Amino acid sequence: MKAIVKTKESKGFEWKDVVEPNITKPDQVKIKTLKSSVCGTDYHIYKWDEWSQSQVRIPHINGHEVLAEIVEVGDQVKGFKVGEVIACETHIYCSTCYQCRTGNAHVCENMSILGVHQDGIWAEFQVVPQNILWKLDGIEHRYAAIMEPLGNAIHTLSYSEVRGRHVLIIGAGPIGIMAAYVAYISGAATVTVSEVNQYRIDMLSKFDININIINPIKINLESEIMKITDSHGIDVMCEMSGNDKALRQGLNIMTSAGDVNILALYPKSMIELPINDLVFKNLKFQFVTGRKLFDTWSVASQWLKQGRLTSKNLNNILTHVFKAEDFEDVFKIMEENKCGKIVLDFTYLNKKN
Ligand SMILES: [Zn+2]
Ligand SMILES: [Zn+2]
Repeated sequence: MKAIVKTKESKGFEWKDVVEPNITKPDQVKIKTLKSSVCGTDYHIYKWDEWSQSQVRIPHINGHEVLAEIVEVGDQVKGFKVGEVIACETHIYCSTCYQCRTGNAHVCENMSILGVHQDGIWAEFQVVPQNILWKLDGIEHRYAAIMEPLGNAIHTLSYSEVRGRHVLIIGAGPIGIMAAYVAYISGAATVTVSEVNQYRIDMLSKFDININIINPIKINLESEIMKITDSHGIDVMCEMSGNDKALRQGLNIMTSAGDVNILALYPKSMIELPINDLVFKNLKFQFVTGRKLFDTWSVASQWLKQGRLTSKNLNNILTHVFKAEDFEDVFKIMEENKCGKIVLDFTYLNKKN
């Protein structure tokens, strides 16, 4: 079968023939990749940065955000059948450790991430455990591959009361944009997004929702936020940019006893924070990874199914579609920072069979 493979310890991937995987355990399913959205994580692995060097073993099939069809099921698989189209959680969890048994499977002690610690879905077929599958009843397939990053946005905001409060999202990458959308439909008093990239600002401007978009290089974020919030400040801040300067700037405009939810990863792990100010302000920090299994998937499903998240708005995030083998074009566009979510299409491969 064809796959997008990391074959060398350097920048790039290769379009390659590899051995088709087979079910080896009774709880596994074999899936056929239909579509996949490209994640920042994929770009890190493509570039072969320090983080990916520490996580990925070569040779490695990349990709994790997926719309797929089940083509074979193991003997113990229940509730899923051949021909069904599904999405997948990407944190593969053990179901038996302390975290899994206490409602925190997203930080499973034996966790392996699809497309990072084990071969991913940028291939014609892959074999995965049934416990990561998510049913798509009533959900437009077009949005299935972005349910994983949408889940990140929902999860990040889930730690705070949003209703009637002033929300600031720092960084309007696809997850930041989805977080702004989630905050808006969750009843925030005001939603403000801080972003410096014009392409992303334009993408967000097309949304049919009432939000403030500020480019902090052009406009003074602090005085603008004070105007928007009647000098109250921000109640809930979501840091999605991975820029420590932007984080500190955001902390300055927090109201006391507000919530700071951080999903971003930073180029350097050690960053400076004005700790005494944060103590006196009584701020609540929440660090966030992954999605709650499967609470956030359920919220995302219902919002998609019931049309709370509209196609008109979501289509603004889905900016490009490429054939799987044209992945080099994807990373060129990502390098230029001129994209929302890019979708890789694998369906033309299946037709050949
Ligand atoms: Zn992802
Ligand atoms: Zn576990």
